[in-house]
Amino acid sequence: MKDKIEQIRDLLSQIEMGFGDEQDQQFSKNYNALELPSVISAIVEFLHPQLTPYEIAIYWYLFDKSIVKTGEQYARASTRGMSSIAKSASGKSDDLSYGVIKKTLDALKEKEAISIVGDTNRDGTLYKVAIPDEIQLCKNAMQEKSAQEVAAIDTNKELDFYNVAENRLKVFERDSYKCHYCSKQLTRFSATLDHIQPVSKGGDNSFENLVTACLHCNSERGNKLVMDFIANDSLSKQDSHYKNYHLPTDG
Ligand SMILES: [Zn+2]
Repeated sequence: MKDKIEQIRDLLSQIEMGFGDEQDQQFSKNYNALELPSVISAIVEFLHPQLTPYEIAIYWYLFDKSIVKTGEQYARASTRGMSSIAKSASGKSDDLSYGVIKKTLDALKEKEAISIVGDTNRDGTLYKVAIPDEIQLCKNAMQEKSAQEVAAIDTNKELDFYNVAENRLKVFERDSYKCHYCSKQLTRFSATLDHIQPVSKGGDNSFENLVTACLHCNSERGNKLVMDFIANDSLSKQDSHYKNYHLPTDG
């Protein structure tokens, strides 16, 4: 019995100490995956109207290589790799020419949809793929829409702003994607939700009880985070995040 209490104490202190790097990354990755559908919607709604068909094709190619495949916004790609992602507009050639690809990449850079972050090597160039929250061309339309939505929010307590993806976004948008605690500018990929009044103390998932927080500030309040998840979160990120903690069992 004494043994078990010790184990539980160890477990609690582990949780209080915060999350290890690896778990942090895992959490972050799962979190990104959760936000993917809403990011994709925002790309179609706000970024597509700013792009040409070739730009759209190359953007999705890089998006898949980065965010979808690794959960990170970085991908290395070569122009050769991009030559077969779409038919040329004339339909005469199966492959896009180097010139077309180069021009398209330059236009995507100009529009801030991608940026070059590393040297070019044999495997290509290292790009960062931006999401609409980070792209000036998308920001105005996004802000306009979110202002309308925030104005129209029913503050009805029944509404769940924690588990429902499109409602989560409304909290982030209300807070302009800034961490409530340290004011760091976040994106849909780095923003998390924090309960002002913990669920364990009777807090709910209402619009008023949730604030935007960075992963760091949210983890700082580790204990509460854990309680919130246990009380609240049936999503898969919890499973993978906590499977490393083995609670002692009877027998
Ligand atoms: Zn913070």
